[in-house]
Order: sequence, then C-alpha cells, then structure tokens
Amino acid sequence: ESLYKINGWGAPYFSVNSTGNISVHPHGLNTLPHQEIDLMKVVKKVSEPKSTGGLGLPLPLIVRLPDVLKNRLESLQYAFDSAIKSQGYDSHYQGVYPVKCNQDRFIVEDVVEFGSAYRFGLEAGSKPELLLAMSCLCKGSPDALLICNGYKDAEYISLALVARKLHLNTVIVLEQEEELDLVIDISRKLDVRPVIGMRAKLRTKHAGHFGATSGEKGKFGLTTMQILRVAKKLEKARMLDCLQLLHFHIGSQIPTTELLADGVSEATQIYCELVRLGAGMKVIDVGGGLGIDYDGSHSANSDNSVGYGLEEYASMVVQAIRFACDRKLVKHPVICSESGRALVSHHSILIFEAVSATAAEAPSVSSLGLDLEYFVEGLTDEARADYHNLTTAATQRDFDTCLVHANQLKNHCVEEFKEGNLDLEHLAAVDGLCEILAKAMGAFDSVRTYHVNLSVFTSIPDFWGIGQQFPIVPIHKLDQRPGVKGVLSDLTCDSDGKVDKFISGESSLPLHELEGKGGSVNGVSGGGGYYLGMFLGGAYQEALGGLHNLFGGPSVVRVSQSDGPHSFAVTRAVPGLSCAEVLRVMQHEPEFMFETLKHRVEECGHGGSSEDEQDVEEEDEMARVTLVSGLARSFHNMPYLA
Ligand code: PLP
Repeated sequence: ESLYKINGWGAPYFSVNSTGNISVHPHGLNTLPHQEIDLMKVVKKVSEPKSTGGLGLPLPLIVRLPDVLKNRLESLQYAFDSAIKSQGYDSHYQGVYPVKCNQDRFIVEDVVEFGSAYRFGLEAGSKPELLLAMSCLCKGSPDALLICNGYKDAEYISLALVARKLHLNTVIVLEQEEELDLVIDISRKLDVRPVIGMRAKLRTKHAGHFGATSGEKGKFGLTTMQILRVAKKLEKARMLDCLQLLHFHIGSQIPTTELLADGVSEATQIYCELVRLGAGMKVIDVGGGLGIDYDGSHSANSDNSVGYGLEEYASMVVQAIRFACDRKLVKHPVICSESGRALVSHHSILIFEAVSATAAEAPSVSSLGLDLEYFVEGLTDEARADYHNLTTAATQRDFDTCLVHANQLKNHCVEEFKEGNLDLEHLAAVDGLCEILAKAMGAFDSVRTYHVNLSVFTSIPDFWGIGQQFPIVPIHKLDQRPGVKGVLSDLTCDSDGKVDKFISGESSLPLHELEGKGGSVNGVSGGGGYYLGMFLGGAYQEALGGLHNLFGGPSVVRVSQSDGPHSFAVTRAVPGLSCAEVLRVMQHEPEFMFETLKHRVEECGHGGSSEDEQDVEEEDEMARVTLVSGLARSFHNMPYLA
C-alpha cells in the first residue's frame, strides 16, 4: 500500500484488502466492511465469458462507481454547509457541475439526481453541452442553476433564453463584451427577461500549467473597463436588475488556499462594486479549480497535487467572501462553484491488462549460439582488434577496460553493418556480448517494458499532452512484493504511446512478474491475468481522448454497492466501439468496405488441391465462406487485443 502511496491519493475510497486486491469503499468513510467492493471480483464478473456467468466484455474497462460520485458531491456540499454554519455566513452554497469534465449521460444524470436535494446544477460551455444540460435539469431541482459559459453566438444565446422560458434557472455569463448586444436584442425579440452574469478577468494569476486562463493576459473574461461598460449599457437598457452573477475562474488545480483567497477577495470586491452601481447581484460563482491529490503528497509544491482538501477550500472561499462583503456592508451572496475535477475524478477507474513483458535478463552466452571461430573471422580487422582487447581485459578482470573495448567493438560493427560489410548474425552476436558484459558489471538496464492492452492517446490523453500523472497500480497481488521495475508501453504504433513517469517521481513502476498464459518465450514473458488500474481519471480524459490508430474507447460498466450476496451489482455494461464503429467515425462505410472485400474474395478463387473437380469446387466454396465470415468478425471485433 505504501509502495504505491494508495493511502495518500486513494483515501477514503481505495485500500488494499487482506487478499492483496484493491478494495473500493463506495461510501467513503461511511462504508461498512461488508459493503466494500473487491475490484478483482468486478473484473472477473465483467470479463468472464457469458457461458461461465460473466458479462463477456473485453478489456480495457472503465469501472464507474456512482456511489463514489454521490459521496464526492455530498462531501463538497457538506464542506460548504459546515463552513457557512461555523462562520455565520448569511446565505447558502449551490454548486454546478461543469459538464465538459465528462459529458457521459449517466454521470450528468447522476449529478442532477444526487444533487437535487442541494439545488445542484450544471454548467455548459457550448451548444451541445447546453442542450444536454437543459434536458437533464428538467429532472433536477427547479432552483438549480444552469450556467452558460463559453463563446456565444446568437443561436447559443437564443437557446439559453429558451431554457429560461422553460423555467430552468439559466444564467448567461458574458465572456466577451460583444455578447451583451446579442443578449439584449434576442431577449427582447423572445420576450424573456434574461439573467445575466459576467466573467471577470482577475489580476490574480495562477502560475501553474492550468493557470493560462488567469491573470490580466488570460484568454477569458471582461476587464474592469469592460465590466463598467456592460453595467452602464444594461442601465441604459433598463436591465441592470438582470445582472445578477459574477463569475471568475483562475484555472484548474489551484495549488494553495492563499492563491484561492487572493482570487476570491479580488472578485468579491468587483461583486460589491456592482452592488454599489445598482446591479441586481445575487450570486458569486468562484469557478472550478478545486484540486485533486494525484500523487498522494498533499503538497502545493508538487505539480500533481495541491496543499489542501475540500474543507480547507470551502472554508477559505466562505471566509474571503464574507470578509469583503462585511467590510462593504453588502448582503452575503449565494456561493456557487464549478468544481469538476474534484467531483468526478475518483468515481471512475480504468482497468487494463499487461499482455507481455520484455526480457528480464541479458541473454546467456550459450543462448547466443555463437560459433566463436566463425564469429571472429567475420569481423573486420579493427573490430577483431577490439574483440581481442576485450577478451584480454576480461582475463585480467579489468571490467572498465572491457566495457571501453566492448563499446568500440559495437560502434565499429554498427558502422560496418550500415556499410553492408557485416551480416545480421554478427551484429546480433556483438549486441548479445555487450549485454552480457553490461549485466556482469551491473550496468544492464533492468527496467522492463510491460506491453499493456490500452491506448494512452485514447484513455490517458493528459499524460501524453501535458505530462499529467495519474496513480497507476496493480489491482491485485499487493500482498506480494513486486520484484520487477517496468514502464508501460501501449498498443499504438507511436513512441509516445507509453507511460514512463509515475506519481512516485520515478521513471518506472514496481511490478510483479507476469506468469500468465504465455509463460516465457525467448525472454519475453507471456501475460494474461495481470491487471493494472489507473485511478482518479474520471475528469477530462474521456472527452479529450482521441482515436489514434483507431483504438476506440474502453468498455464501460456501472457498478453500485449492493446488499445482496455480492457486495456489488453491475447496473450497466457497454462494450467499447467495434472496428466497424471506429471506422465509421472517420467517414468509412464498413458495410460497403465489407462488400468490396467480399467481392475480392469471390474474384480471387481458392482452387482446392483435390483431383476431383466437384471436390475442388466444394473446397473452394468452403474456403470462401471461411474467409468471408472471418472478415465479418473482424469488423465486429474491438480494436484492442482479444
Ligand atoms: N469552470 C470553467 C470556466 C472552467 O474553464 C473549468 C475548467 O477548466 C472548470 C469550471 C472546471 O475546473 P475544475 O475541473 O478544475 O474544477
């Protein structure tokens, strides 16, 4: 557990149970022992064939845990409720979930359902996001906010105003000054009184990777001059009462509560000024940015962590708003936050299998199958001299000199090979000799490559794109000390498709030997049956993930805690995209492709070997049928290894 810092990043949802498997505590601290879910049992249930009682879904697999999502939402609400109560704050907290974090239908529906008692709402940043937020919120609390952020054209604004007509508590947040004219015009045409918010461009700057949106040069929001112009224009249009919300977002993963307090205080001053100018202000929306402790260090100095938890975050927000409002004698506003990462990261686990691993050891001299005389004869004069110097140094046990000559030998041989003067067998023998020598001197690179049935580009795009690290851990065998160090290499034909940086700060991960189906063949261990989990990846990864090499998304299951004979129930199971489906995304037409290939099968003919003409025809027909049905299967299979 401590090797992978599970307690640090995983508490209170993940731990290691007595059988060495990862256990999920779906209700966090309130989970009773019989409610814990053994993740390996979920993998078994989902991946085993239907004939043996499983669901027959292929890996990789996303396991969604709605109970964890509910617990996160309630913990966030509780943190704000407690801070509000203990600080005597005179209004309430009402969060929204920014759907861009993960637009999956069931996640958004769950947030609306779990949040309806708390007036929890949604935030949209585009027209399709607004459409999904509108339809989901029809089942939510009537007071839940529907915050419309992002760049807006006339159609977006019309849609947001229609949402108001439908009695959804919609706020159009101006990101650009020009949007105001559209809002005034269209609301008059549609005869709807809009509720307007403004996104302020704060001076407070978050210096980390996620802070590019903040500061005076940030991409989004209105400057103080623009804020004033908007207020004046609304006053002139007799719509200043419509301006009710002030929003800001200083970036994701805000590292410290000090920076947070800075931003919230600056924004609250603007809020108070707008009250003074006569706007109908009611809500301060502190945006997203509530951070996640990906590496378990709980440290603001780490790029993968933050130095606070939910309680400290909520407490700081409430305190900063209260302090600024009290000084200006302004009524305490409703506090809204757009926490996305903090809400959905924990509830989703990506599980994948290691299918093979590279050699654990350098080859032995005997495995090289070397005919020494033939080998030495085949070398050039220079290389032969290197070889003799190498063997002399070896007899004198002078390993440093050995290594120097070995490197020279290798370099000479590579040059000769490139020139076409050395054959492949000689080059391979030299490589083998150098590896044996390096091993003897302890310089052999003992980090092994584990090939995993996964696409980094599809499932962990933030690792590839911005170097973000997620906790990756074997989900079983944790009662055995891992004896190997490895990096993970995915299935794509791309050298970036690997994970070689881990939350420990190391460039390899402690792993267990593979002992699955394949055994060890030519120094490569067969995999099967070694499962790893990537945790805390519920936010952003799925929507950002691409189709590089046409690997589609993983299978997805929804797993709820259940009081039945097993501690869990799989309430939804969806396989990932088939080859035909991913091809369709790229405008190919699988049905047409299949017909083309089928036609080619007919054309080719497969003449049997029999003497009898009728037998030949039958064999030919059989061969065609086999080929065509194989092709049909290929279209329906998943792109990942079966
Ligand atoms: N609100 C806005 C305007 C954002 O741009 C973002 C993300 O960058 C969020 C909310 C969600 O942020 P987080 O996931 O860090 O809570």
